[in-house]
Amino acid sequence: MLDELPSLFETVRLYGLGANKKLGQHFLLDMNITDKIARLAVPLEDCHVAEVGPGPGGLTRSLLKAGASEVTVIEMDERFLPALKDIADVSGERLSIIKGDALKVDIGREIGPENPIKIAANLPYNVGTKMLINWLTAGPLFWEQAVLMFQKEVALRIVAGPGDPNYGRLAVLSQTVCQCHLAFEVPASSFSPPPKVDSAVVVLDPLPEKERFWDLKRLGEVTQAAFGQRRKMLRKSLKPIAAKFELELEVWLEACGIEPTQRPEEISVKQFQKLSSSLG
Ligand code: SAM
Repeated sequence: MLDELPSLFETVRLYGLGANKKLGQHFLLDMNITDKIARLAVPLEDCHVAEVGPGPGGLTRSLLKAGASEVTVIEMDERFLPALKDIADVSGERLSIIKGDALKVDIGREIGPENPIKIAANLPYNVGTKMLINWLTAGPLFWEQAVLMFQKEVALRIVAGPGDPNYGRLAVLSQTVCQCHLAFEVPASSFSPPPKVDSAVVVLDPLPEKERFWDLKRLGEVTQAAFGQRRKMLRKSLKPIAAKFELELEVWLEACGIEPTQRPEEISVKQFQKLSSSLG
């Protein structure tokens, strides 16, 4: 039945869905790409997919086609609601639509605890990082996997490891909560209208609860101090934190296996966690 819908190009034309740049609207109208994103999230039969920013519904169609038993989409721009309703009408009650700002919607509460939640989205560039940080720091986590498209530069900052110039606060936070991998890149020319930069899809799988480091507030404090002055040695950038917590700076660093002359990009995610947990 989904196959009977007009093509995405036709849908955009029928409903006059011009892109609104303020809402980060760059549409994926090539279903080969949206199918590829949906396949990263399978199996979808026994879970509830939350899709943020469905727009005209390309990824929504792919998620349903890939077997999703329940999909809830959250879209801020009401112009897309008729196109999404058309999909809902042929999806056998598998699609629910929320009109709202995903930054404000409590997705876990809206969907409820019955089934594990997976998040899938081609995120709006302007608020994508903020959304990810909200989902990573929502404790307890309400989702069991996220398959997310970002601008490539953000994707690289999520998956980078020590020694990589993209390694920073976002990598440490993301990799503290999840296993993260970059699945594939999508050139700007695949979107309508094309953005200025390429994109990439990242898959985030939360680490088992017992392996997860929980004190994200302290971790944030340490990484902000360290990466806030990323060219400085840690003996300089972490001095204010050592003073605040009345720690002997060099003793604190040594206990975490860190040389005072090292810079933040050389420090592993585990070492950042150790620095944070030893603040007491
Ligand atoms: N998923 C569609 C696709 O791949 O073609 C559209 C992706 S477009 C990059 C981002 C979508 O997110 C747009 O439909 C936009 O209206 C929506 N959006 C932007 N900010 C939002 C917010 N705060 N909450 C919910 N949706 C938002």
